Order: sequence, then structure tokens, then C-alpha cells
Amino acid sequence: MNQGPDFLILGQGLLGSLLALDLCAQGASVIIADFAPRRCSSLVSAGMMDPISGQRFALSWRYEETTTYALSVYEKLSSLIGQPLITPRTIYRIFRDTNDSDTFHKKYTSGTLTPYIADIFTHSPHPDVAAPFGGVTIQGGYHIEVGQLIHSLRQYFIESNQLLINPDPAFLENLNVKATIHCTGAYAHLSHYFSWLPFRNSRGETIIFDAPDFYTDAILNNGNWIAPMKTGRYRAGATYAWESLFHPPTEAGYIAISAHIKTLIPKINTQIMSTESGTRSIMADSRPVIGQHPIHSTHWVASGLGSKGTQIAPFISSHLSKSLIKNTPIDDEISINRFLKKYLTHP
Ligand SMILES: Cc1cc2nc3c(=O)[nH]c(=O)nc-3n(C[C@H](O)[C@H](O)[C@H](O)COP(=O)(O)OP(=O)(O)OC[C@H]3O[C@@H](n4cnc5c(N)ncnc54)[C@H](O)[C@@H]3O)c2cc1C
Repeated sequence: MNQGPDFLILGQGLLGSLLALDLCAQGASVIIADFAPRRCSSLVSAGMMDPISGQRFALSWRYEETTTYALSVYEKLSSLIGQPLITPRTIYRIFRDTNDSDTFHKKYTSGTLTPYIADIFTHSPHPDVAAPFGGVTIQGGYHIEVGQLIHSLRQYFIESNQLLINPDPAFLENLNVKATIHCTGAYAHLSHYFSWLPFRNSRGETIIFDAPDFYTDAILNNGNWIAPMKTGRYRAGATYAWESLFHPPTEAGYIAISAHIKTLIPKINTQIMSTESGTRSIMADSRPVIGQHPIHSTHWVASGLGSKGTQIAPFISSHLSKSLIKNTPIDDEISINRFLKKYLTHP
């Protein structure tokens, strides 16, 4: 055994990066190992934080608490990397049809969505955006430059000798560390230690395009979305596929997203710049999962951020780092312990 740092983090996506910073801030020594060219979903993330999401207009899990904390973290990181990371974004949630509109109005009467609804419109709020069934203007959303953050932190970790890219697995196995934390996103499903967890991962594709005759600084969303990027480009997505989880972008994905773009901005000419594919790590109950392996107690997992990594990764990282260093209990809602029965009964 080689004497290693206090902690070994597997994966330099958003969660692994934030966890390394949190652990170091509490005085621990950390090495991150990342196996490129595995697909890092943080690099294809649109970086959106939206209070209301999905077909049922659900409030995002602990939105106020996790977003307030996330913004404070991204603000500090903006200073660390010398680049602004946060842009507040209005979201136009455009109704797809009358059923979609009815679903919203029923939910709206409960009052829970009220703080985030700035307007309910029957005519499109933008001359180039199609909204034949109307929609709502959602406030309190943000865009975070997640890709830029990951690239900058990669450089930062390389310069501080904390990042190993494609190290010899035998070398890692022989490192004597207090804990190895698997921040490997959807790849945790392939891990010898955590494959028994109830993953229902999904692969998603996006398209990046230019549209010189179109301008909006709002996110458009009718179930599929177009999000403005800082570069003046737009990103559109996303598909959901439950097979070929780590496949690169496909022709079918390209066709589907191109059609979605046309439903949102039918009159606009677009020039496709690139296509991307990533895999969301999703647990059966759609909550993140963090904690210690039931038997191999030096192995920990932090995964299952779904489509909400930008919003919840800072909170999860902070929570986990305290548990690793100060042994504080893990919130039941996100603890691995809720799946212990699965461990005991898996083949
Ligand atoms: C198309 C798409 C769009 C999305 N848009 C949004 C959005 O707008 N807003 C939002 O909040 N979320 C979005 N998400 C989800 C978001 O990407 C994730 O929630 C989040 O980035 C996951 O971060 P992570 O660090 O857990 O995993 P990842 O970012 O996937 O990082 C895992 C890392 O682990 C590495 N790795 C894998 N196996 C090993 C191993 N054995 N050893 C070492 N390293 C390993 C990989 O190389 C990778 O770098 C989107 C996802 C997709 C697919």
C-alpha cells in the first residue's frame, strides 16, 4: 500500500470537482482520478436551474434552499476562476396543447407555484416564438456556465497536482486513503461496489446552433427547450433514451431535436454547429444518493443528480464533505441507507 491523500475522488464532473474543493477547504488532502474519454454529463449540461419542471409542473426539490446555497458557491467560484458564471434567466414555459395548459392551471390553483409565476400569457411573448396555446413566464431561474467551470477547475486541479487523468487502476487500488468517493455520475452503475443501486439512467442529446436573425435572453421550454449560451449561440434539447446509455450523438437524436427547434421558432433559420450526448444518473425515486457502501466502508458514492445537478451539486457536496470529515449524519431523503433492502436482496 502507498500512503495516499486523505480522500480519493473518482470523477471530475461537477460533483467530484465541488467535493474536492469542499474537502480541501476543511483541511483534507484530496486526489481526483478521472477516466477520459468517458462521457462527463456536466460537459453537456445546459446549466439551467429552473424552479418548475417536467410535464406536471413540479416544483424542483428544495429549490429555495439548494439554489440560494448554489448561487453563493458559484459566486465564489466565479472569483476563483476569474469568469462570471451566473446569469439570471426568465423561462417561457410554453403550453404544448390544451391538456398541458389544463395541467398547469389545476396545479396553479394550489398556490405552490405562485412565487415563481410572473405572468400567464395567451399570446407569445416574443414575435419569433410560437405559442399557439399560450404559456407562463417563470421567474427565479438561472443559467450557470457549468462547462466552463469544469474546464477551468480541471486546469486548477492539474496545476495543484490533484488530478490524475487515466491513471493505472492498480495504482489507485494500492493507495491507502480514508475513503474513495465515487462521483462517477451514471458510470456508478457499472461500478463493482454500487451496481446494485436502483439506477434508471437516461442518455440525452443536445444540439448547439447559431441563429443570426433571432435573439432572446430567455429560456424557451415546451417540454423541449432552447437555452441561450453566453457565446451568442443556443443549445437545444434534450432527448431521453434508456438504451445504449453511453452512445455518442445519433441521427435519430439530431432529427428529433431539429423538429423541436422548429416547433419553438418555426420561422428562424438555424445553422447547426455541433451535437452532444451525455448520460443522466437517475435513481428510481429521482433523489440523489450519497453515503457509504454497506460492507466496504471506505467506498462512498455520490450520484443520482438527474437533470438537477447544477442546482443541487453544491448542496450535496457540502453535505457529503461534512459527513466525511465530521461524521455528521446524512439526510434520510438522500442517504444510501434508503436502498439497503436492495443491497440485501440483490443477486
Ligand atoms: C443532455 C443533458 C442536459 C442536461 N442539462 C442540465 C441542465 O440544464 N441543468 C442541470 O442541472 N442538469 C442538467 N443535466 C444533468 C447534469 O449534467 C448532471 O446532473 C450533472 O452534471 C452530473 O454531474 P456528476 O458530477 O454527478 O457526473 P458527471 O458530470 O457525469 O461526471 C462523472 C465523471 O466521472 C468520470 N468517470 C466515470 N467513471 C469513472 C471511474 N471509474 N473512475 C474515475 N472517473 C470516472 C467521467 O469521466 C466524468 O468526468 C443534463 C444532462 C444531460 C445529459
